[in-house]
Amino acid sequence: MTARRCIGALATLAGAAALAALSTAQAADPDPTPSIAIIIDDLGYRAALDARILELPPEIAVAVLPNAPNTRRVAETAARQSRDVLVHLPMQALGSGGLADYAPVALRADVTRDELERVVAHALAAVPEARGVNNHMGSLLTRQHEPMRWLMQTLACHRDLYFIDSYTTAESVAHRMAQEAHVPTARRDVFLDDSHDAVEIRAQFKRLVRLAHERGAALAIGHPQLETLAVLESELALLEQYGVTLVPATALLEGVSARERPATVLAGTRTTP
Ligand SMILES: [Zn+2]
Repeated sequence: MTARRCIGALATLAGAAALAALSTAQAADPDPTPSIAIIIDDLGYRAALDARILELPPEIAVAVLPNAPNTRRVAETAARQSRDVLVHLPMQALGSGGLADYAPVALRADVTRDELERVVAHALAAVPEARGVNNHMGSLLTRQHEPMRWLMQTLACHRDLYFIDSYTTAESVAHRMAQEAHVPTARRDVFLDDSHDAVEIRAQFKRLVRLAHERGAALAIGHPQLETLAVLESELALLEQYGVTLVPATALLEGVSARERPATVLAGTRTTP
């Protein structure tokens, strides 16, 4: 990172240095109950489904596409609910197609640093409520070191922003680049709904619970679809029985101490099933 690029970055780095012996959020949490966190991606296009997502417990974060017809309505409503809002930043996937739908707020694999900074600024301006960013698609771009390093250095200029790696490819370096840039970060563990089959979605939810018991915490990403909503609405009522607590995704961020976590996170560590 250079002073030319980011005047405010020194403060971020100073803060990060103070956290040099970073423990994970889980280790800093005195509550030993395993935690699950859930982000619902792709909001902004389907108003009826988006409205139902926003009726889920407020610990569930929403990742809003920056250029969608309902971006503003979703982000404003979620922020009023003290729900975490992420910019769901479109990035180029392997294979063709998809990205043109999101232009000009999308990162192509051949993006230059200047273009990347412009796109990120545009996305953040479209969703000023966002405190975090995660990737939409990106199975090609997130495996490329240089643009991921630029992205994280750009996010590091915004003191309060975090990055969650949607981990659309096992070769993603986004999580590691975020760590190196001292951007608070986490990586998705489970996709709830690669399938539209409610039985398979429920099995993925159980996998999330199992991982939380094994590791202390686990992070899932789901999408606005009827089957996912139905599973969430029934499974979230059983968390006490499963012995896990629903927490905001920000509670699972590495690189941020409990003291620095936002009040909404500290206040929202439990949910009533
Ligand atoms: Zn997406």
